[in-house]
Amino acid sequence: MSYQFSLEELDELYELQSMLDAERKRHGIVPGVPFELERPSISISDTVDWRRIKDDKEKYAAYLCSREWSEKKEAVRRRSDGKCERCRRNPLDAVHHLTYIRKYSERLSDLQAICNQCHEFTHGKSDYDPRVQP
Ligand SMILES: [Zn+2]
Ligand SMILES: [Zn+2]
Repeated sequence: MSYQFSLEELDELYELQSMLDAERKRHGIVPGVPFELERPSISISDTVDWRRIKDDKEKYAAYLCSREWSEKKEAVRRRSDGKCERCRRNPLDAVHHLTYIRKYSERLSDLQAICNQCHEFTHGKSDYDPRVQP
């Protein structure tokens, strides 16, 4: 049986990730350095190897805080030249999964630098598509 994330769960993880990134920035902590955050049902720690976490939701949340993921994000950021790869207009805000087929061992072609407006549209949170000319 394979476990599928609901969009809400994924969104929560993305929000959690940007929250962690902001926290790290505020405290001057670089990714990969031990950092803990407690949430009602998810606890994340960089000191634990994400590969050894059995619960898939916790594993994925920990993966999003890992050095491996941050290196992939950085590579996508460099490829995008700071621009959203979907609309090519706005600056990028996040790195989005085009497919979860290779979750944990994504190829860079599985990932897309994306702006908040495109991201919300892609996840069905907004009807506004920045790619459509006004
Ligand atoms: Zn965009
Ligand atoms: Zn996304």
